[in-house]
Amino acid sequence: MLLDAKLLQRLSDVPVLGVSMADVQLLRLDLAGGLASGNKVFKLRQNIAIARQRGLGRLLSFGGAWSNHLHALAAVGREQGLETVGIVRGERPAAPSAMLCDASRWGMQLVHVSRQEYSRRDEADYIETLEQRFGPCLVIPEGGANIPGVRGCQEIARLLPSLEVNTVVLAVGTGTTMAGVLSGLSDVHRVLGVSVLKGADDLEDRVGAALRAVGVSDTGNWRIHHEYHCGGYARVDEGLKQFILEFERVQGIPLDPVYTGKMLYAVHSMIRQGELAGNIIAIHSGGLQGRRGFDWCS
Ligand SMILES: *Cc1c(COP(=O)(O)O)cnc(C)c1O
Repeated sequence: MLLDAKLLQRLSDVPVLGVSMADVQLLRLDLAGGLASGNKVFKLRQNIAIARQRGLGRLLSFGGAWSNHLHALAAVGREQGLETVGIVRGERPAAPSAMLCDASRWGMQLVHVSRQEYSRRDEADYIETLEQRFGPCLVIPEGGANIPGVRGCQEIARLLPSLEVNTVVLAVGTGTTMAGVLSGLSDVHRVLGVSVLKGADDLEDRVGAALRAVGVSDTGNWRIHHEYHCGGYARVDEGLKQFILEFERVQGIPLDPVYTGKMLYAVHSMIRQGELAGNIIAIHSGGLQGRRGFDWCS
């Protein structure tokens, strides 16, 4: 992947809904990568290396009909000549989502399972039946949330400028990317996560456990905000919608409503309330394919 300073982009000083965001630089992971962009490719890289070491040419994972993770897995499989299997939550819809269309066009075998069966996705005996059914494969958890995923995201930290102390802000789903960025930092940055889930009280423990698993000591330079979920995962309230439309109009940078929209909405709110100042680097973690699931995103 080609990575250079161009991925770091300062926002314009034209105010967004009355607030200047000119202190914010965006790390545009949405611009890095081929068919797939954003943080999910980083999470997959070490997993793919493990599959190759084990001589496995097939990767299997789990997700919903709009999963950025399955989308990236299908893309990377296509680019690297690996077979992919996607176990999709819920019965096959009458009209498949644009995400599922991309994935099947890129050769992913899509298997729709009931929500009840899907809930067994982390159980060892269920995973064994999948390995028997689909043949030898590397099974990756939903969202790419495993320790190789954390290690892959350490690469993201290396893209951050090292000259001054910054506040790094990123969207948090499983916490894998946050743990990777934290454990990959060589400078004293402060890291703020914005949870896109409602009441995900275990996130701090999950990030802490992931840091221990990769052998990095927790220096307490991070915190997760839980008050910007806007109604819950993939939910959008009027304030978020207004913000995204206005941000895109002023800055000319597309956001996705599920992750990066909420993260920058939080940044915007915190700047307005005087809770966030100084050098801010917000990670645009991609997810733009998911815009197609929202009719008000053009
Ligand atoms: C999955 C995802 C995240 C969250 O990553 P986690 O490692 O699960 O916390 C953030 N942004 C985008 C665009 C994503 O697709």
